[in-house]
Amino acid sequence: MIKLLKKSSFEIFFKNLQTQGKTIYAPKNNGKKIEFSKIDNFADIVFDYIKSNQSTKEIVFPRYHKVFRYTKQADDTVVLQDFSADSVPETVVIGQRPCDAVGILALKAIFETDIADKPFTARFNKTSFITISCTKSDENCFCTSSGLNPGSTEGSDILLTPIENGDYYAEILTEKGTKILEANASLFEDSPEIDKNKYLAKVEVRFDNKIIHEKLNTIFDHETWVEQSLQCIGCGACAYVCPACACFDILDEDNGRSGFRYKCWDSCGFGNFTIHTSGHNPREVQSQRWRQRIYHKFSYMPKREHVFGCVGCGRCTDVCPVNMNIMEHLQTINAL
Ligand code: SF4
Ligand code: SF4
Repeated sequence: MIKLLKKSSFEIFFKNLQTQGKTIYAPKNNGKKIEFSKIDNFADIVFDYIKSNQSTKEIVFPRYHKVFRYTKQADDTVVLQDFSADSVPETVVIGQRPCDAVGILALKAIFETDIADKPFTARFNKTSFITISCTKSDENCFCTSSGLNPGSTEGSDILLTPIENGDYYAEILTEKGTKILEANASLFEDSPEIDKNKYLAKVEVRFDNKIIHEKLNTIFDHETWVEQSLQCIGCGACAYVCPACACFDILDEDNGRSGFRYKCWDSCGFGNFTIHTSGHNPREVQSQRWRQRIYHKFSYMPKREHVFGCVGCGRCTDVCPVNMNIMEHLQTINAL
């Protein structure tokens, strides 16, 4: 369904969502970077930005969270306090980019294939995503090489595309989006069908992720993995900013008679990520870890979860301290 949301109605829309009990996340300038934060005041939302430092991943997959707590009773029986979906607030995310919306779908595929990850599912089900299309891009963006574009609708409940006068062409895409529309019906006006493409950022196509997917069937032992990874220091920054990276560790913190188990982000780029208790490490060197990163995103995930694990946001290149550029590496693979 297509609607029009006037710029002048956005603040009322925001206040309505607050009144309706929603916790709202949106991009905010923290003084140095644009980050998705809980927003209490509409004026704090930044609309004019290209991409946030972190994606919205953290809202559904926190970098650290307790899975359960336990307490030993006087008779040594253990009382377990499991994760409860009731602890998750109804949340609305405003202003993420279309690539990040698809990143959340990649996480959903990972966390809900085979055995569903209860905390992820609870957070996902209670979160609605009002995405805003990109009207600007930067040199590291390559969504169009990843099967997407600056106005992709996948993963969004409502997609807003900025048009003339700062108004928004609103695509209502899911049941969650329809519920938001119905609860704020007076603010969404009728809109004619328009060609939204003329408002979108132009992002050059640099390679084809489907060709990468095919190539990976034959280049596992190619020297390119060593060549590409020589700079990599295994810091893991690329995984932490990636909207589609889902590596995590599970650890226990025991305080004697009580404690908790927690889950925290991890990275396949870390040297000890795959180390076995015996001391053997099947990915001993960085080239094997870099190869794993590319294979997981472009070969294993499409085969197993039917989604690519890279949405072309370019954040890994933005943050890499040694200037590893995934887009250039993928172009190299594309040309092999
Ligand atoms: S951010 Fe750069 S140096 Fe750090 S692990 Fe990723 S590719 Fe390697
Ligand atoms: S691998 Fe890099 S470009 Fe691809 S989605 Fe992750 S951070 Fe973005």
